[in-house]
Amino acid sequence: MTDLKDKLQIITPFTNQAPAERRKKIIVKQTECNKCGTCCIGASPMLLKDDYKLYLSNLLNDTNTYTVRLNEPLYNRREQDLYYSPIEVIKIDEDSGCIFYEGAGQCSIYENRPIQCKEFECWDNTPPMEGLEDRCLKRKDIFGGIDFLMDLIEKHEEFCSYDKFLNLIEKFHRNNEEALKDLIDILKFDISARDYVANSFGIKEKSINLIFGRPMTECLEFLGLHIRKEEETFVIRKIDNGTKVD
Ligand code: SF4
Ligand code: SF4
Repeated sequence: MTDLKDKLQIITPFTNQAPAERRKKIIVKQTECNKCGTCCIGASPMLLKDDYKLYLSNLLNDTNTYTVRLNEPLYNRREQDLYYSPIEVIKIDEDSGCIFYEGAGQCSIYENRPIQCKEFECWDNTPPMEGLEDRCLKRKDIFGGIDFLMDLIEKHEEFCSYDKFLNLIEKFHRNNEEALKDLIDILKFDISARDYVANSFGIKEKSINLIFGRPMTECLEFLGLHIRKEEETFVIRKIDNGTKVD
């Protein structure tokens, strides 16, 4: 059975860890990081509580980090498979790899890189970063002192949990039309919450991905659905056979 460590690997630099057979050979030859940059490509690090100081120094902020919410679907390009985040994590933005990766093994924030980057040893076959779940930075560690924002995050999480969302998508795929109405309500709530925060507090659209996670509409393609907005109406269709819904 896949354990939490294996599930977490998919959303971290471990994504590019060498397969077990190759790792055995690496263990013999390699005892320290040679800065090849392989682990910086494909996935950015998740942040730990001790990385919060990088927000205080403004190296990290709401424009270069985002939240992966509990049970959020994540598509792994390398394995071409879908995973679900087993916990909430905060990650550095990615653009075909960590945004701080400059190529040729160079990290633009190397001296101040996050802990996971410092601790990761691709040649080591032992379970990396014991107790990762407890050590992970969460939204409450960043926004905990801002009550109205935490209230909004909790309400959003309550109404738009991925648990509920995925359940409804599964039902919809089994032709349950009632589920589709609830699904649309969740998507509308997610969009409204983003608009409300952006318009009421002048928060930039990109920054909202740290507050509420990425827009829920973005994962629909992975889940076999296509969505289009037509004025006040959503048109959703199953990618297989097409269904239009107002
Ligand atoms: S830990 Fe170092 S040697 Fe290993 S993949 Fe990352 S950069 Fe390369
Ligand atoms: S912060 Fe630097 S070391 Fe860490 S994944 Fe990004 S580029 Fe690599």
